[in-house]
Amino acid sequence: MQYAVLGGGALGLMAAYRLAQAGQAVMVFEQEQLAGGLAAGFRVGDVWLEKFYHHLFRSDRTAIRTIEELDLADRLEWIRPRTVSLVGGHIHQLDSPLSLLLFEPWRIDERLRVAAVLSFLKLVPPSLLEGKTAHAWLRRWMGERPYSVVFEQLFISKFGTLHDQIALPWFWARLHDRTTHLGYLHGGFQLLYERLAQRITERGGKALLGTQVEKVEQVNQIDGRWRVVTSKGTWHFDRVISTLPTRLTCRLIPQLPDEYRMRYDWGRAYGTHCLILSLAHQLTESYWINICDRGYPFTGLFEHTNFISPAEYGGRHLVYLGNYRPMDDALFTLSKEQVMADFFPHLKRINANFDPTWVQESWIFKAPYAQPIVTTEYRKHIPPLHTPLEGLWVANMFQVYPHDRGQNYSFALANTLVERIL
Ligand SMILES: Cc1cc2nc3c(=O)[nH]c(=O)nc-3n(C[C@H](O)[C@H](O)[C@H](O)COP(=O)(O)OP(=O)(O)OC[C@H]3O[C@@H](n4cnc5c(N)ncnc54)[C@H](O)[C@@H]3O)c2cc1C
Repeated sequence: MQYAVLGGGALGLMAAYRLAQAGQAVMVFEQEQLAGGLAAGFRVGDVWLEKFYHHLFRSDRTAIRTIEELDLADRLEWIRPRTVSLVGGHIHQLDSPLSLLLFEPWRIDERLRVAAVLSFLKLVPPSLLEGKTAHAWLRRWMGERPYSVVFEQLFISKFGTLHDQIALPWFWARLHDRTTHLGYLHGGFQLLYERLAQRITERGGKALLGTQVEKVEQVNQIDGRWRVVTSKGTWHFDRVISTLPTRLTCRLIPQLPDEYRMRYDWGRAYGTHCLILSLAHQLTESYWINICDRGYPFTGLFEHTNFISPAEYGGRHLVYLGNYRPMDDALFTLSKEQVMADFFPHLKRINANFDPTWVQESWIFKAPYAQPIVTTEYRKHIPPLHTPLEGLWVANMFQVYPHDRGQNYSFALANTLVERIL
């Protein structure tokens, strides 16, 4: 069988690798010049750094097994970095049961109430929580103030004006999946994607980078052959696996029936935007700062070099300032200079000593379809792996609900998909 895999991110590469291992002929089409999709990196000195901050949780078992399988385990390190929240102008740790009980912005009775609610969520299955929004449910059971001081702002930072529509099982999964120890692949997660592409090639497959898929159509209804039209030419395959967001898959494949589109070309996704600064000095003492205070133009600050030593990056102090926004948000159109001019006064609120002269290098990265908006209706609109068209499969990070998207879930879905196909 000859397979086309659309998209060379975690999911596409893993699916292609499993198919190649099973002796199938496989070709991956990736529009970017680098493999890795949202988890891809760029060069900082001699190493890769992710365009968007990345780490693993201990619960990411499929990702950990994949790293071992690809002989990269010696590069994976587990660290407990400081992950904190900025509340009322002060930094507070809130990443474990103990830190919750000591969390000063809440009164003692509020801390106990939040602890009871989170413990309850740890015990119940997510199916019991379907149909409820996290906003209404958490506000009711935690109480208005504890919810609005921390959790509401976290939802706003990820989902903006849609923050009050997010399904409670999504929050349940975050609570279950997150761990205080975080894993990082020294040298950058890009190494994982380079290794996957290499293994695909060694088994006779191909990963075509810089090749945008423009149209996909079934040319012969009887034997089900597929034509894939790309920016670099046209190829024919027996089967097609699309790992692109379902909306993009629907655009590329006009033959998908209307009933399918009505049900699955549905919902919204946000894009992501990151300004990365290379600084001459350390900015904060934390790796991950959730910004719970209002009025900041970024929703998370990740000082990567409080997680991985600056020595690995030639002494640079590397800071991500991240945002999720609707894909037509003005932020995506601003120049780097405009973004820095907007953001820098707020860095001074976090560290009064910060001075723009600290900035030695800077980069901006943006990506569409980076965060599915998981409302209570979302589950009904997750497409099955097989489409109504013979030989066409869809598998993408929009199908991993209730889990938040993550490399782990893309790898796991790729494994499930290939087991099903074969
Ligand atoms: C800000 C941010 C932080 C994150 N942090 C973490 C983290 O800490 N840990 C973690 O595990 N995960 C994290 N993630 C999530 C993780 O990056 C994704 O879940 C994972 O990379 C998704 O892989 P994928 O292959 O499913 O999708 P994608 O990576 O989106 O891959 C789809 C690919 O399809 C390509 N494509 C699209 N259209 C076409 C076309 N027409 N032709 C050819 N190619 C096309 C795209 O270029 C892309 O490479 C983060 C994501 C973001 C945005």
